Amino acid sequence: MFNNKKNTFEQHDNEKKSYYKYSIEANDESIELQSNLQVDVCVIGGGFTGVSAALHLEKKGYKVALLEARKIGWGASGRNGGQLTCGLRKDQSIIENILGFDHAKELWNLSLESVQEVLKNIKDYNIDCSIVNGVMSAGYFKEDYRYFSNLIEHSSKKYNFNEYKLFNLTEIKEEINTNKYYSGLLNNISYHLNPLKYLLGLSKKLKSLNKNIFENSHALDIEEFADKLVVKTDKGKVTANYVVCGCNGYLDALLGKIRNKFMPINNYIIATEPLGQKKAEEIIRNNYAVCDTRFIIDYYRFSEDWRMLFGGGETFTSNFLHDPIKIVSNRMYKIFPNLKEYNIDFAWGGTLAITVNRLPHFGTLLNDKLIFCHGYSGHGIGLSNLAGKLISEKISGNPERFNFFRDINHLTIFGGDFLRRPIYAAAIGYYKIRDII
Ligand SMILES: Cc1cc2nc3c(=O)[nH]c(=O)nc-3n(C[C@H](O)[C@H](O)[C@H](O)COP(=O)(O)OP(=O)(O)OC[C@H]3O[C@@H](n4cnc5c(N)ncnc54)[C@H](O)[C@@H]3O)c2cc1C
Repeated sequence: MFNNKKNTFEQHDNEKKSYYKYSIEANDESIELQSNLQVDVCVIGGGFTGVSAALHLEKKGYKVALLEARKIGWGASGRNGGQLTCGLRKDQSIIENILGFDHAKELWNLSLESVQEVLKNIKDYNIDCSIVNGVMSAGYFKEDYRYFSNLIEHSSKKYNFNEYKLFNLTEIKEEINTNKYYSGLLNNISYHLNPLKYLLGLSKKLKSLNKNIFENSHALDIEEFADKLVVKTDKGKVTANYVVCGCNGYLDALLGKIRNKFMPINNYIIATEPLGQKKAEEIIRNNYAVCDTRFIIDYYRFSEDWRMLFGGGETFTSNFLHDPIKIVSNRMYKIFPNLKEYNIDFAWGGTLAITVNRLPHFGTLLNDKLIFCHGYSGHGIGLSNLAGKLISEKISGNPERFNFFRDINHLTIFGGDFLRRPIYAAAIGYYKIRDII
């Protein structure tokens, strides 16, 4: 129905060498959809959004089927930087200007809940995903100290949030062993974790409740038929009252023009050989995850076996870099030159969905029967998990909290399929230059 346009082939895979994949037990078992099914809700996408939505709906008593084109965790949810923080990708003061204070405050509270949602899942389902407390924002520019101070004051005054800790030039150097940063801001309500282990823990719970979890089952089209929706794969179809679409950066043409509400961009991560705890703590004293304040950010942390996982470098063409080692390691050596003596064991990338205002894009089509959530703009671990909960609330007749996200207005990235990438890349090029000067 929507799929009247050709795919742009934005879905690529260079994930074969991911550290996360190495860190889990190999499991090639998967069930493919090969028949016709009738359910209450058909969920498309086996990342955090889809799995969380399916699990919440299942627990509310809905009959659910989930279709994942490849494997659960194949997408960004199984490849990301593992940094779980409250807030959104834009500062609250900016969101207040866009949406007004009351709306901004609802979003802030939901972002706090999103972190608690992940923590609760880890506890309730006993998921071993090596979670560690603390994400440090590292001030790359001199003026960041003032920026951080203002943020602390604003958060305390307007949101009664007092969980930030400020670090000056000397203090940040004690925490992160580089002379690249001028200051730091630690958020106590923040964590880092192995995202693939977390997602597989969540999907293990889902699979224990529901046998209709299909992998290698690409949703090719969604048709409206009487008051039902029919999702087709090449070997079967699912007829449902509702369809949930959680495809994020891999959505492509499935919902037609909806894809023009965000830009799918590719981001890359490398993993060194294990450094050992002692060496790792010489580099990041308290094992925090770190992200810097540039427009094109560096983000990094140590894995559970003390490898440096360093992320950074974005590409905007639809071609994936098949060997991102050079581009990412050059960024890493600028911050930590001593890491040159260690091997790089893994390098991979993933696709995320960035909206123009950096706020998530939630919405519905076909008289509210088709629900989509995407565009977390690099801040998706908490928000996509929360999205699943809000989708289940909406389907069960309580749309209020879903609507706080739905009611955000999003610009369309103009230029159509041919020009939107060059236009966007040119805009990002401008910010890259600004980072340098
Ligand atoms: C390199 C990288 C680093 C990141 N770092 C962080 C971070 O540190 N912190 C943070 O908060 N966020 C981070 N993010 C963003 C975060 O990973 C995402 O926002 C989040 O995982 C989105 O989850 P999702 O379930 O919506 O999408 P995804 O996990 O991408 O899942 C979408 C799934 O849909 C499937 N799919 C697509 N089309 C179809 C179809 N037609 N039929 C069936 N299945 C389909 C895909 O195969 C895929 O598995 C990062 C992202 C990347 C790529």
